[in-house]
Amino acid sequence: MNNSSAVLILDKVSKSYGNGLAVDEVSLNIRENEFFALLGPSGCGKTTLLRMLAGFETPSAGCIYLDGKDISPLPANKRPLNLMFQSYALFPNMTVRKNIAYGLEMERLPESEIRRRVDEVLSTAQLGELAERKPDQLSGGQRQRVALARALVKRPRVLLLDEPLGALDKKLREKMQLELKRLQLESGITFIIVTHDQEEALVMSDRMAVLDGGKVCQCGSPTELYENPNSRFVANFIGVSNLFEGVRSGERTVRVNGQELTVETDAPLIPGQKVAVVVRPERLQVLAEEGDDYCANRVTGNIVEIAYHGLDTNVHVQTALSDKALIVRVPSSQFEFAHFAIGMSVRLGWQARHARVLTR
Ligand code: ATP
Repeated sequence: MNNSSAVLILDKVSKSYGNGLAVDEVSLNIRENEFFALLGPSGCGKTTLLRMLAGFETPSAGCIYLDGKDISPLPANKRPLNLMFQSYALFPNMTVRKNIAYGLEMERLPESEIRRRVDEVLSTAQLGELAERKPDQLSGGQRQRVALARALVKRPRVLLLDEPLGALDKKLREKMQLELKRLQLESGITFIIVTHDQEEALVMSDRMAVLDGGKVCQCGSPTELYENPNSRFVANFIGVSNLFEGVRSGERTVRVNGQELTVETDAPLIPGQKVAVVVRPERLQVLAEEGDDYCANRVTGNIVEIAYHGLDTNVHVQTALSDKALIVRVPSSQFEFAHFAIGMSVRLGWQARHARVLTR
């Protein structure tokens, strides 16, 4: 990893509460102007990690460096990091403008500078017309933007966001994901966001770390993690996966329930090693009766379920490769011509390069 552009370095940071380890030797480099997501299931340690960065918790071990300096001795209010809570905690009796200006007034900045910076942020967050309203006269999405504007106006080196879209409904969440990304790009501030929503992390982040049991399982770009998960946990946590449990039988083969699957892997060959093969639903194809020889892997099965999702339709096919039915994603625009029906026998195929081997 390129250390030179790192704003924040976490070096083997741990946090224990009594006998429990909430964060376990987490090492991460977070870069300048990066939108970084900490992703994981409930209780994996995301919030604890964020609170340690903000200075609300002290690490039990390890160091946190901001611009090369150890920030452990600094109390929360002296750190150039700003934490935006899930509950926006806006002052109900103050206007939007006053809410945003509050932090700068506490710093006793000159009035002219406060006005200039607040106007600038009001414009970036598209709140200009709402500046004189009070929080209870705003929608959920608008309140969220005020909270963001209030954090951005202080120009933190890093903005920490704990489930910032958690309170919004699905449609608004999707809109705000793009807005958050735009605000991050325009402000040039490094954002670290905590979320348990993998789709949100995929859409917004430049890079993300998947956590489980206080440890980082994998860190990389959304495409790296989706296309090349390093473990069953990451493959299952991010997106939908078809997993086949088998044993390594050759350099590029895995035997699954008596059938040899051709795979692509860099993992060294340990014959007989128990591994899993992962294939994403959009990589599986429904093959015609004959031909389609370009698919190295083929299997037949019966359709057990058809789930329409609007844009796509998921066809669930029971095969001999796993107990769980395989999920094949077919664009709904093609679907109407295919005449699939529950109980129908189909042949599925996929290419070796879309079958990744997981050793963990
Ligand atoms: P969620 O998505 O549910 O908020 P999380 O990934 O943010 O979960 P944390 O809140 O960081 O998880 O908690 C990690 C672990 O540490 C959990 O097992 C939790 O019970 C424990 N924990 C967190 N704070 C404390 C505390 N103050 N005292 C004792 N245990 C705690």
